[in-house]
Amino acid sequence: MQIKKSYLLYISLFIFFLFSQQVKAENAIITTDNVNIRSGPGTEFEPIGQANTNEEYHIKSTQGNWVEIEFENQTGWIISDYISILENDPEINENTDKTITIRYDNTQLRSGPSTKFEIISFAESGDTFDVVSEAGDWYEITNDEVTGYVLKQLIDPIDQYGGLRFDFTDKTIVIDAGHGGHDVGAIGASGSYEKDIASVTAKELEKKLTSLGANVLLTRPEDEFISLKSRATYSNVLDTDAFISIHYNSFPEQPNVTGIETYYYHEQNKELAHYIQQEIIKETNARDRGTSVGDYYVIRQNFQPSVLLELGFISNKGVEQLLHTNTYQQQLVTGIVNGLGIYFSNY
Ligand SMILES: [Zn+2]
Repeated sequence: MQIKKSYLLYISLFIFFLFSQQVKAENAIITTDNVNIRSGPGTEFEPIGQANTNEEYHIKSTQGNWVEIEFENQTGWIISDYISILENDPEINENTDKTITIRYDNTQLRSGPSTKFEIISFAESGDTFDVVSEAGDWYEITNDEVTGYVLKQLIDPIDQYGGLRFDFTDKTIVIDAGHGGHDVGAIGASGSYEKDIASVTAKELEKKLTSLGANVLLTRPEDEFISLKSRATYSNVLDTDAFISIHYNSFPEQPNVTGIETYYYHEQNKELAHYIQQEIIKETNARDRGTSVGDYYVIRQNFQPSVLLELGFISNKGVEQLLHTNTYQQQLVTGIVNGLGIYFSNY
């Protein structure tokens, strides 16, 4: 028995020296309590210590299902089932000045940067946190109450420092500010013209999309009358990735009516409409009038991804006032940008 055991150990060590491979700087985070650390890569090696949840060790090499770690001035081996590997050290960036906003209700915060770690808390849509570090697809975040890890996909794509996660570099977006010239569009409770507010939104949207790298074109850069046909043609002759028509609503008979809605015409634009509508509502907290099929010339005769937004009722005095504030315009624009970003990352 004694000889056989030594022989096995010898063979294992031999295999170890042959096949153990050096890996890049990576760390192992332990995901379970009382994990045995052994003197070699197999259960036949004796334990030299134990590791517990959340402890972090530097990885020296891996062999099959075993990982060699630096342990108390020597090295030890643990089974990879009980660890989560943090990718290269350089990706763990210390990012103390970054703030993120949670995107969805009941977002899980975990004790480590992988779904193997336990859920320690839940965050709600709109909660903000400071970013402590980044590890692969995860942020380590903290606020006064809790510190935990959140999947990057679950946070707002635009943080309050303008750290934009969308890249529109290869996108061409046509923005169509409704009406213009003698066609003033709807008239607001205090006399604002739809064409003017639509133009403000279009130009803010142009600014933001341009800053994200998009090639942006306005169908109506000035206050002039442009036919519906030219607007649709504008989009059709270009390699347009999205055509966004901006309008404001009016219902003077019932001035308390409010809300935002998004129209599409062709079935394939339903998702685009859905994402934009969803993100605008998230940003503005406006009444959600949903998405519907709308028989409007600029989207019906448009053969590129296209939607028409009705961004609020200017017949409502409160809404009309709000639309004259930059803060609210930024919320609308952020919603549209986020919707487009989500759409582009899905198609
Ligand atoms: Zn209109």
